[in-house]
Amino acid sequence: MTGAPVLVLNAGSSSLKYQLVVPGTTEVAAKGTIERIGEDGSGIADHSAAVRQMTEQLGAAGIDLATAGVRAVGHRVVHGGPDFSDPVVVTDAVVEQIRDLSPLAPLHNPGAVAGIEAARAELAVPHVAVFDTAFFAGLPAAAATYAIPRELAAQYRIRRYGMHGTSHRYVSTAVAALVGRPLAELSQIVLHLGNGASASAVQGGRAIETSMGLTPLQGLVMGTRSGDVDPGLHPYLAREAGLSIDEIDSALNKQSGLKGLSGVNDFRALQELRQAGDADAELAFGVYVHRLKHYVGAYLAQLGRLDVLTFTAGVGENNAELRAAVVAGLDGLGLSVDPDRNAAPGGGARVISPDGSRVTVAVVPTNEELEIARQTVALLDSSAG
Ligand code: ADP
Repeated sequence: MTGAPVLVLNAGSSSLKYQLVVPGTTEVAAKGTIERIGEDGSGIADHSAAVRQMTEQLGAAGIDLATAGVRAVGHRVVHGGPDFSDPVVVTDAVVEQIRDLSPLAPLHNPGAVAGIEAARAELAVPHVAVFDTAFFAGLPAAAATYAIPRELAAQYRIRRYGMHGTSHRYVSTAVAALVGRPLAELSQIVLHLGNGASASAVQGGRAIETSMGLTPLQGLVMGTRSGDVDPGLHPYLAREAGLSIDEIDSALNKQSGLKGLSGVNDFRALQELRQAGDADAELAFGVYVHRLKHYVGAYLAQLGRLDVLTFTAGVGENNAELRAAVVAGLDGLGLSVDPDRNAAPGGGARVISPDGSRVTVAVVPTNEELEIARQTVALLDSSAG
């Protein structure tokens, strides 16, 4: 049965990404994105229309969803809150629970709920929700706890949840195969650097630290998110700049990070500005790297020993200069890259540190859709007995 395809859906507020994945292989039968859901003039009124559009696109590619033997639909859900630490078969009650978590992820969970509801109405197969927070549900309490009044934390479900967990799990597992050592033996740092960005420390396959928190705003510098700032910034902006909570939220989530510093959020555009001698872009690169080094050092201390440092996602997989900058000067900690290996083109999982290095530095392309498909199948297989 593992040969049957799984349809993986990643629904946001205005987009629906889909992939038809064959879990036992790395084969992707089809994929696409429906954008501008609910926008004027897009012709895609809502998520139900987006699902129908997907069905049409697949049909045009020669895939009839009704007869393709799709075993299940796996849904990416950003926030599982305190309720979900594992994938779950979607029921009406589960949909309500995910909806109930929306205050924790107002930019993400409502879109996921809309996508799940639309897909369940169209596709009569089991639906499974896979949570981006799940890999971090077992963070040690000392890592997951904010030093705020415990009553507030309990009442409002405030803790470090972490996101990108599906990617961190996939990459940390794949890297064990790449270096040919058991996952259980490895102390790792994974740097997921895409539009959003996060770091994790993984010991024996278990996450012990991650840079995102209650929301995806914490941690690394991202395309449009600030990452770590002094929490005192918020009251300061409210009092001195007269900004509302929503304006501050938007400034930190949508107008900050690389975009706030340089005017562009895309790393390739940033590199072009730097090459043209743009000082703001140069500083943005510097801040981005500085924050990464900060987390690498912190996680080295939390792990006590480091075996592998892995780069993944759009920036991490593609930008050799950034990778070299992150480990520059860390030879004393056993971290370095071989310039030729680092610069070599080629997209697969690869080691970029010199032979015999104390710490292996690797690049592993992430594949969240495959991981969601695998977890979907594993859950259904286990519940089938
Ligand atoms: P998302 O977080 O949306 O999944 P990605 O993982 O695709 O995003 O990462 C997007 C980022 O990766 C962008 O900043 C983009 O500029 C960067 N990126 C993609 N390809 C390259 C490349 N060849 N060189 C440098 N950066 C790249």
